[in-house]
Amino acid sequence: MPIVTDVFSGIVFVLGLIFGSFLNVVGYRVPRGESIVRPRSRCPRCEQPLAFYELIPVLSWLCLRGTCRTCNAPISVRYPIVELVTASLFAATVLNGMRPAEVLATCVFWMLMSAVTVTDLTAMRVPNILSLPGAVAVFVLVVASGLQTWSVSLLGALTGFAVMFGIHLLSGGNLGLGDVKLYLLIGAILGPIGAIESVMAASVLASLTGISMRLAGILPPRTYIPFVPYIFAGTILVYFFGSSAWQWYLTSVLHLSA
Ligand SMILES: [Zn+2]
Repeated sequence: MPIVTDVFSGIVFVLGLIFGSFLNVVGYRVPRGESIVRPRSRCPRCEQPLAFYELIPVLSWLCLRGTCRTCNAPISVRYPIVELVTASLFAATVLNGMRPAEVLATCVFWMLMSAVTVTDLTAMRVPNILSLPGAVAVFVLVVASGLQTWSVSLLGALTGFAVMFGIHLLSGGNLGLGDVKLYLLIGAILGPIGAIESVMAASVLASLTGISMRLAGILPPRTYIPFVPYIFAGTILVYFFGSSAWQWYLTSVLHLSA
């Protein structure tokens, strides 16, 4: 039923935009200890509350050309990007051909990842209040929906945590414990092999970006580089392409037949 799937993924895309907009608020306010319901969203510079037509995901940002209507302060491009990424992940998850319960479990996972990407970008940390209950929620949903068995999910969470904790120790604490705890939920959905692949993918993406920025001279020494965006990107790659990438590596690089 391709038409039904197309309509459903379109609806889910719009839902993803709306949730993405909310996650921008969650990600900004939670690490600052602010309420996520009140007050209404306002311009960070002139504190003018935003009108309803300024709260339309992506479109408002585009129409106002990324500036505040009242004081012309620039509004970060992070807002529409988080909305579009969340919406695209929702739609891609539906098109991946999963059952509704699996879609729900996966979309809750994407929402948590979007929120902690914002907290890392704006406050340089991953709050426990998102990662720890998030890990429990993802574990319960993943197992209840049948996406993973409880043993694979639990082993994934523990493997992800252990690998990242090892990197935390080796890095002398440069890799924060917030990033380590985030792997409890990533491992819970990807399983142990996926968790390790995600760490590898994130490290490769972050290294390539770091090296390019250093070569271009736009990365001052001893600056904080948020790692969660790379973890998110690596996890997306593994989630959608993990098994085919492995297949390609085993057959084309190692010349092993599967
Ligand atoms: Zn303003």
